[in-house]
Amino acid sequence: MITIRGKGVSSGIAEGPLYFYRRAVAKVVRTRITDVDAEWRRFKTAQAQAVDELGELAERARRYVGEEAALLFETHQIMARDLDYEDAVKSGIRERELNAEAAVSDACGRFTRMFAAMEDSYMRARAADVKDVSNRIIAILSGTVQGGIDSEVPVILAADDLAPSETVQLDKSKILGFITEGGSGTSHTAILARTMGIPSVIGVGDQLKPEYAGRETIIDGGDGVAVLDPDEDTRAGLVDKRSEQRKAKDVLAQLKGRENVTLDGQSVRIYCNIGDPDDVRAVLDNDGGGIGLFRSEMLYLGSDDYPGEEKQFEVYKKLLSDMDGREVVIRTLDIGADKKTGYFRLPEEENPAMGSRGLRVCLERPELFRTQLRALYRASAYGKLGIMLPMVTSVWEVREAKKLCEQVKRELEAEGVAYSDSVRLGIMIETPAAAIMSDRLAAEVDFFSCGTNDLTQYTLACDRGNSGLGRVYDPHHTAVLRLLKLVADNGHKRGIRVGICGDLASDLSLTETFLAIGMDELSVTPQEVLSLRRRVRETDVGKCRGDILDGLESDSEPIGG
Ligand code: PEP
Ligand code: MG
Repeated sequence: MITIRGKGVSSGIAEGPLYFYRRAVAKVVRTRITDVDAEWRRFKTAQAQAVDELGELAERARRYVGEEAALLFETHQIMARDLDYEDAVKSGIRERELNAEAAVSDACGRFTRMFAAMEDSYMRARAADVKDVSNRIIAILSGTVQGGIDSEVPVILAADDLAPSETVQLDKSKILGFITEGGSGTSHTAILARTMGIPSVIGVGDQLKPEYAGRETIIDGGDGVAVLDPDEDTRAGLVDKRSEQRKAKDVLAQLKGRENVTLDGQSVRIYCNIGDPDDVRAVLDNDGGGIGLFRSEMLYLGSDDYPGEEKQFEVYKKLLSDMDGREVVIRTLDIGADKKTGYFRLPEEENPAMGSRGLRVCLERPELFRTQLRALYRASAYGKLGIMLPMVTSVWEVREAKKLCEQVKRELEAEGVAYSDSVRLGIMIETPAAAIMSDRLAAEVDFFSCGTNDLTQYTLACDRGNSGLGRVYDPHHTAVLRLLKLVADNGHKRGIRVGICGDLASDLSLTETFLAIGMDELSVTPQEVLSLRRRVRETDVGKCRGDILDGLESDSEPIGG
């Protein structure tokens, strides 16, 4: 039995075989071959498999992402069968007696250079497609598994770390739990794991060894422990714990349908944060009052090309219809920092968290933003929509975004397309600048939602994804809490709603503080709704408000370290 300790970031107990996430890093080994016919057949078999795989991907994309992404895979299918490309591979094998991997790699180099030198920007962009197709064929030839899970049974997925784009593309039905060497509790991968309700242990470092692959593993995502080949006592202990957790969940379930109201009558909205339209089921199962944050960038990260207006419209419309009149706040694209995907071609930056990110990217690429806004306003006819802008620092950014919203509405009107005229526009307060300027920003928008994950990062100058910073990333820090109070006060002076959608919203040790500050809304993962409701219902804010507010102002005993 081996015990691995890390940090639990998504509670629950899961049991299954340990499986290592594999990325496609097919290294091309060059060899001279003697049987050219056999090598040519190897290539043809790999080419046929690539074409089949691309066909399946096109079908999946058509069902789940949209026509544009499906067409991309179909273009790759055509390239994989292209006769000039095939001839180039053939000459490598037959004339230069190269192994198939090297012949494909050389053909790829030749075609990539040819496309890259073209005048036409569309043709230039095809260079990346040839590379993609060639990598797929090389990976098949060399037996490298493409990124993902190649297992018949569900597994405990182990990885060094996972990028958000990798996480969203995983087949969720195959994942029982996550263990990662690196990562931090507020990394987007940890957030996604919590949203999906998948037990997760992160930051285990070099305790995770490749030779453990396939071993029976139990993870406890609450305590941050993974046990490999558990002995009978350990297994029994964890199985007991799991049944206790299930019982506790049943008790919490009795709170469904009850109000989020304190003992002294203060009420608060408890909404949910999600990133996948399928998560609506969990929102409704857990009696979330609405969606306080739909991370729309997950739609982009789960796709191999920009999701078009039609695709986005369908997703947002379904989200609003499924929520059946409950409020849905969709955050506009928050790409950048750790949330990246190749086709965006975001610049390489020294400091991506402080670079092209969120609203900045949308304002730099108005066409991209317009597509999303059109889809959002069109969908607004099907429910109660709020649109929320991420990564705001200045009033001018909000004004520019509002101008684009107005343009989109005029366009839809001119086209005779229906939209709701009661869409509320809000912003995330997740930079110190936005918090400090919240008095002025409050005059521009209908609501504020505090993103404490980033607000903590930027206020404390502390990378939220860097697990090595330990105690320095402290969302309880008085600086962060004072900013939250300032935002609530400034919002309320202007009569707008203020909430929190960062992970701190579910920190039950701060529920009293948030209520004392007067937060109107707390938005948490669906699995956290009922425990937060219980905490709210047990609280008498009137009794503790004075002490909490004094504590925040006090210069002697800072709340957070
Ligand atoms: C936040 O920063 O707190 C937030 C909710 O946004 P994200 O975690 O997606 O950056
Ligand atoms: Mg954020």
